[in-house]
Amino acid sequence: MKMPLLGMPIFENPISKRTVGRAKQWLQECCNTHVLCNQGGKQGKMPTRLIDVGKRGEPEVPRLIETATAEHYDYIALSHCWGGHVALTTTPETFEQHKEAIPLEDFPLTFRDAVDFTRKMDMKYLWIDSLCIIQGDKSDWEREAAIMGEIFKNSTLTISTTTANNSTKGFLHPRTPRFQPIKVIHSKNTNPLFIRDILLRPWLKSWSQSVEGPDGPLSSRGWILQERLLPPRPLHFGHEQMFWECRTALILEGHPYNPVSLEDGGSSIQSRFIGRWRSIF
Ligand SMILES: [Zn+2]
Repeated sequence: MKMPLLGMPIFENPISKRTVGRAKQWLQECCNTHVLCNQGGKQGKMPTRLIDVGKRGEPEVPRLIETATAEHYDYIALSHCWGGHVALTTTPETFEQHKEAIPLEDFPLTFRDAVDFTRKMDMKYLWIDSLCIIQGDKSDWEREAAIMGEIFKNSTLTISTTTANNSTKGFLHPRTPRFQPIKVIHSKNTNPLFIRDILLRPWLKSWSQSVEGPDGPLSSRGWILQERLLPPRPLHFGHEQMFWECRTALILEGHPYNPVSLEDGGSSIQSRFIGRWRSIF
């Protein structure tokens, strides 16, 4: 007799091979099988600049690249809280230098985590607003701010730093595994006894608590609205688990076998956000 899988263990390391493997699997399924999520393809403008994070396992230093208008780039966008001063920005003074290299040790923790995660996902390009838009250059800011919606919309994946309220907090924090392996006797009437290994763990906090509630300060930031509505695939990093969101499904890392179906499309996502935003305004 098959028992339904009710949940999956959460591992301590948020970028372990097993954990990132889940994110890769969700991305692959979304890109290859979700019709709704791939309608229309990529339209509109690509970012003018991206951060080339180098390849996984290579000691390559990230650098800023200028994109070619005719080319298509697969990139991860970072949705984050500035939370006041951001230690690392591209300015007219640092622009040329950043095209050569941006030493990893200069990155505040949230940005560094984004570089690490991008590399683990075997992707090469990352978009971070404070580095890819030249700060202090009014004309550049106006031009890039005007296409920011398209930048999020055309991203392959968007990292949502759900729990971090500034650029130094990071989002790849160790999670508490809190699961206990036990053996259960499946039926006392079978011979020999059928013993099954299962894992027990407490119920994890819900989507509404972790992402849209008090544990998710990112959701209440004013500027974030377009960063929530437009990306096709936000991946939210909560304290306890990751949450995959696309136009077809909402998947909790700890309960991947019970995705919330969003077959009625973007309207479901939008109605959730609008409800949340009405409570803020
Ligand atoms: Zn999808």
